[in-house]
Amino acid sequence: MARDIPTLLHDIFGFTAFRGVQQQVVGRVMAGQPTLAIMPTGAGKSLCYQLPAAALDGCCVVVSPLIALMHDQLRAANAVGLRAASLTSVDADWRETQDRLRSGELDLLYVAPERASQENFRNLLRSTKVALFAIDEAHCVSEWGHDFRPDYRLLRPLLDEFPDVPRLALTATADAHTRKDILVQLGIPDDGLIISGFDRPNIRYAVHPRDGLSRQLADLMLSEKGPGVVYAQTRAATEKLAETLGRGGRPVLAYHAGMDPAVRARNQAAFIASEDMVMVATVAFGMGIDKPDVRFVAHAGLPKSIEGYYQESGRAGRDGEPAVAHLFWGAEDFARARMRIAELEPARQQGERARISALGALVETATCRRAILLRHFGEDPAPTCGNCDNCLSPPASVDATETARKYLSA
Ligand code: ADP
Ligand code: MG
Ligand code: ZN
Repeated sequence: MARDIPTLLHDIFGFTAFRGVQQQVVGRVMAGQPTLAIMPTGAGKSLCYQLPAAALDGCCVVVSPLIALMHDQLRAANAVGLRAASLTSVDADWRETQDRLRSGELDLLYVAPERASQENFRNLLRSTKVALFAIDEAHCVSEWGHDFRPDYRLLRPLLDEFPDVPRLALTATADAHTRKDILVQLGIPDDGLIISGFDRPNIRYAVHPRDGLSRQLADLMLSEKGPGVVYAQTRAATEKLAETLGRGGRPVLAYHAGMDPAVRARNQAAFIASEDMVMVATVAFGMGIDKPDVRFVAHAGLPKSIEGYYQESGRAGRDGEPAVAHLFWGAEDFARARMRIAELEPARQQGERARISALGALVETATCRRAILLRHFGEDPAPTCGNCDNCLSPPASVDATETARKYLSA
């Protein structure tokens, strides 16, 4: 180890201090202890393996579920001077990457989970020094997680083949069930769990019944300044809404996975550079995009889960300045969700139903939204936050109490 950790933190990443639990996580990794780090979006999970990757002898193998995500991270890692490469189906330089790996010239190697079961990949790892396995978006290993990827189940045998290599799993998803499942599936002992606080105090939460959505969103675009993201539920809805909202005078673009890749990339770049653009997108937009000054996120319909809502709304206000998360919902959203669940295999229905009822509690409550979110993630928050719609202007709950009193005293 040429330089110590604080020096590397400063010299490579330009940071003066760790944030939150980063130091604890990096400390465990450097000590070779298996770890599951649960940190909210924007908390700086990447640093937890990139820094050890720079400090340790050998290469850190990073498992990541999406090629787009991998390539964003790769660019960022190379930009700070880390030696990073990926082995994916779209990479043309496999030979060169393998050579660099074998001759110890790589700090980071990004791969998709399905690589784990391929004998030639395992052989490659056997022929080099692996310093660390980092499993990003680790909730994908759990059927309880909101984004189960069967390929993540292939990782355990690979990890077990290298018992001396520390493993670090990272995710922003924290419900107790998923958490436990990740520990078991990846062979991490219970005391390897590190959870950071989930509160994003600068984000104001507001939930609205849908009532003429285009008009509601158009109003919102007049009142909310700065860059914003509107999450629509389908690709078609994305394009239609972008067109409607674009008539309001602010720059509006659309983004979804079905678009021409060149157009998509152009729209993304325009959004990142802009100070007042609104992007109407599917939830595919945002993963791996680091735009710190997003001032508002609006969900045009019910998100898939509390975890999804937390991650998507969490793309607002990463710079710590005030930001708003708006959620528009209607009873149809729940009806549609129930239909979707009925089509799933029975084993998955229970978990999905629990997810939907948790969302129901969030949108229908007359109490603090933040408290509901944080309790969902296992925290014990104050009953009121002062920065959500219900705390700022307490709704019908007063009336409900009055009504109840009236009935009781009648
Ligand atoms: P996550 O994967 O947890 O969502 P990222 O790893 O993408 O978060 O990091 C989010 C942002 O925080 C990035 O812009 C990163 O450079 C920044 N960041 C990470 N660690 C620190 C730190 N210790 N000090 C300042 N900024 C940091
Ligand atoms: Mg990340
Ligand atoms: Zn509140």
